[in-house]
Amino acid sequence: MSKRRIAVIPGDGIGPEITKATIAILEATGFEAEWTYLDAGLGAIEKGLEAMPETTIDAVREIGVALKGPTTTPSGGGHSSANVTLRRRLDLFANVRPAQTLPGVKGPFADKDIDLIIVRENTEDLYAGIEYQAHPDVAQAIKVITRPGCRRLVKYSFELAVRQGRHRVTAVHKANIMKLTDGMFLEEFYKVAQDYPQIKADDVIVDNCCMQLVTRPEQFDVLVTENLYGDIVSDLCAGLVGGLGLAPGANIGENCAVFEAVHGSAPDIAGRGVANPTALLLSAVMMLRHLGFNAQADRITHSVQRVCADGHCLTIDLGGKAGTREYTEEIIVQAG
Ligand code: ATP
Repeated sequence: MSKRRIAVIPGDGIGPEITKATIAILEATGFEAEWTYLDAGLGAIEKGLEAMPETTIDAVREIGVALKGPTTTPSGGGHSSANVTLRRRLDLFANVRPAQTLPGVKGPFADKDIDLIIVRENTEDLYAGIEYQAHPDVAQAIKVITRPGCRRLVKYSFELAVRQGRHRVTAVHKANIMKLTDGMFLEEFYKVAQDYPQIKADDVIVDNCCMQLVTRPEQFDVLVTENLYGDIVSDLCAGLVGGLGLAPGANIGENCAVFEAVHGSAPDIAGRGVANPTALLLSAVMMLRHLGFNAQADRITHSVQRVCADGHCLTIDLGGKAGTREYTEEIIVQAG
């Protein structure tokens, strides 16, 4: 039988280190794939290509599944985001970001039983990239929200809730101020919710949501929201469960899926062998489940839980002393 083809975008900063670690762990569980390495980010620019080259977009579209490391996006000027380009060009409309308490991981919320999923819209909102200088002293941006875009995202979040046996989907918005855009999102949310009477549907204003998340995070189940709120709220949730080193994500479209960590390229620690590969590894676990390799996904998940609970081989971001290599070896041993 021919091996499953998977596109790999190692990306920038710590991307190549955590990608190598993740693939080593996947292969140690017996998962076999034909890995097709693709350029993106600063490495692509250095080769005279775009930050997200057309050849990479075409290859991911053709292969259908990608494991992606972070790519650096400069603030202010410079090249536009390789991530935003890939998500928009492949119409990866749903960004799924789970946040779950891991045993043994210390932090102010360690005693809370957090197990929530953020479903973030991935192609619209202020990320539509329509910004202009209206006047030398006035810059403006346009927030784009479409009814079909809201509908498919909300439907995806309810379907996900059904698939995972979850009980509640909460829409996160600012419809009290953004009456047309967020108002439309909320309207579509409650319309779609009628098709899922077994799931509790409710909504919360984004600022109140943030307050609730840092007081009673365990109350939430599935949160569905627009692009910008989702970006911010999902980093907040990553912080609740131990930081960016542990937060996985998936970008889902009709025909394609790209699995990547929530965090960025962490240039401050790149090349030092100290990056925590868990966020990308747990993204790869989401990829395994997407492909139907549930046994391998379970083995890796249990191994991460065991290593975190045991606590003697944690990476520096989690208060430990282990480098990427030691941690990776320990995950492989525990998954064995
Ligand atoms: P970018 O510009 O690519 O977004 P950034 O450094 O601004 O990069 P992140 O990469 O998200 O943003 O990193 C924020 C902080 O979290 C940094 O201090 C970084 O070192 C740390 N961090 C992020 N990911 C990891 C990881 N996998 N392991 C350890 N520390 C991490």
